[in-house]
Amino acid sequence: MQLNENLLKLEQNYLFAEIAARVRKFRDANPEAELLPLGINDVTRPLAPAVCDAMSAAAQEMRRAESFHGYGDVQGELFLRRAIADYYRSFNVSAEPEDIFVSDGAKSDLASLCDLFAPESTVLLPNPVYPVFYDTSVMAGRCILFSVGTRENGFLPMPDDRVHADLIYLCSPNNPTGAVYSRAQLQAWVEYAHAHHACIIYDAAYEAYIRSAALPRSIFEIAGAETCAIEINSFSKMAGFTGVRCSWVIVPRALKQGTQPLYRLWMRRQSTKYNGTSYIVQRGAAAVFTPEGRRQVRADVQYYMENADLIRHALTRSGMFTTGGVHAPYVWMECPYGMRSWDCFDGLLTRCGIAASPGVGFGECGEGWVRFSSFGSRETITRAAAKLSALDWDALALRYMR
Ligand code: PLP
Repeated sequence: MQLNENLLKLEQNYLFAEIAARVRKFRDANPEAELLPLGINDVTRPLAPAVCDAMSAAAQEMRRAESFHGYGDVQGELFLRRAIADYYRSFNVSAEPEDIFVSDGAKSDLASLCDLFAPESTVLLPNPVYPVFYDTSVMAGRCILFSVGTRENGFLPMPDDRVHADLIYLCSPNNPTGAVYSRAQLQAWVEYAHAHHACIIYDAAYEAYIRSAALPRSIFEIAGAETCAIEINSFSKMAGFTGVRCSWVIVPRALKQGTQPLYRLWMRRQSTKYNGTSYIVQRGAAAVFTPEGRRQVRADVQYYMENADLIRHALTRSGMFTTGGVHAPYVWMECPYGMRSWDCFDGLLTRCGIAASPGVGFGECGEGWVRFSSFGSRETITRAAAKLSALDWDALALRYMR
């Protein structure tokens, strides 16, 4: 046999394994100490009642022959695609149900979309980067370039016309930095994509956390995006579906390479490799867009954003520099005195019992930063914020800076 050598090029999942090892060591050494997990990527609030009710009703439909559902529409049930299109309309984006493909998660969509493009495509990724963008690109054998995020550019790298890319990954609001592109900035990316005949893969998984109408929620708010961009969104973080699994991809029919619509290729790909999303799950997802569902999921997003405010205020009151946490559930902090990410991680764990995420785990541009997630319970976040406020950062730097 011959193995797919691209898989061998991937590093082991060093970041999470290393965090777990250091947390274990801390626990063994301090069995009584409180541990406050602020690194988690997963939601903690239970599912909205409207979603649970809709899924229960759908499960009951399945037990009767006359309302049973077998294989469904591979693209997603029309009732859900229509509800998603209406949702876009609520912020003045016209997305047609025909262009929407329902699926079982943004992570699988990111991996699946690689099938659309030639292996030798050059990919431009932001750095720091959501690791799935990088790993799926490595698995697909891509040539990978990075656009550099820094404190100076607010972790919102902009296109450089001297650099050519075929595929551009953008994530806004961003994981891990919490940064959000403005419309003018996205317009520049759309213009770059057109000039380079490139395709933008726009990950809008945290769109529901945007708190200002001045910021774009979708790449399709930008003129010309429908002929150069694909958008991914997920119910995971907008409605707590991390354990339920449902997402969508918009491949506009206007998006073409030469005369070839990508839509047609994507439909062909999906109908071969995917067999549709669970009917029960799609009923639950559609309930997110009912007035009751909207109210309930908004309250959960609001809860996480109040958590983010608590973390952000605790850090800024202590003189720390942060980005994110305003329109995103992640607060991205610059480590004091030029500390490295892992040293700051060790200091926070040992002094406060706080397990954050070392920024360097998201790429070398994350070195010197740490990410705090706001997905914990209010109790955890309040305890963590109190500890961060009381922390002697000078002493932490003196002790843990190597
Ligand atoms: N995209 C981004 C930017 C994410 O942070 C995540 C999850 O953390 C995902 C996609 C994956 O979402 P899903 O649960 O739909 O697979």
